[in-house]
Amino acid sequence: MYKVDIGKKILIANEEYARKNSRFLAKRKKLCLNMISSPGSGKTTILIRTISELKDKIKIGVIEGDIQTDIDAERIRAATSAVVQINTNGSCHLSAAQVCGALENLPTDDLDLIFIENVGNLVCPSAFELGEAGKIVVLSVAEGDDKPAKYPSIFAKSKVLLINKIDMLGAGVQVDFDVEKVKADARRLNKDIEIFPVSAKTGEGMSSWYGWLTESVGNLRL
Ligand code: MG
Ligand code: ZN
Repeated sequence: MYKVDIGKKILIANEEYARKNSRFLAKRKKLCLNMISSPGSGKTTILIRTISELKDKIKIGVIEGDIQTDIDAERIRAATSAVVQINTNGSCHLSAAQVCGALENLPTDDLDLIFIENVGNLVCPSAFELGEAGKIVVLSVAEGDDKPAKYPSIFAKSKVLLINKIDMLGAGVQVDFDVEKVKADARRLNKDIEIFPVSAKTGEGMSSWYGWLTESVGNLRL
């Protein structure tokens, strides 16, 4: 019981910071999206391509969450200087308090959109609200098509599902991944979820994702 109470207290304290972040962003009319996936699904590559291809239309900043290292933040810095690294030093998710500090270090007034790249983990990041307008879940075809069934919470809570690395579904590559099954499973959990099959590597399918992003930034909501 004791353990449960501590868990609850942590979540309540987190939600206070999440509300603070949400107010900060609303006041400045900035859209913020929280990107969540397993390690290696291609979040960083998706961000780099998105930032570069939309740079004349939308100014994008990134809060980069990692357990260790700033490898991903350095990769993103090639596309934008508006990047702040958070190292969680072992924790498997970002907290709203960490994001609060990071927002103060971003040139927020110069940006239209802020992505939070969460720590690679499909489980607990879905429980920690960060003050974002919406969550984006990324699933790569290399991970298998059972993920919506096995990790329902993040698929139920996300506005968008990006099915990444669809270039791997081409002839000659042995990947057991049924795109239609994933779409059906995700929609069973979340009837409103937008689903974009993409390859951040080749660019295939990315224009639909850019269209959704551009419209959401224009409307300032999802
Ligand atoms: Mg990354
Ligand atoms: Zn965690």
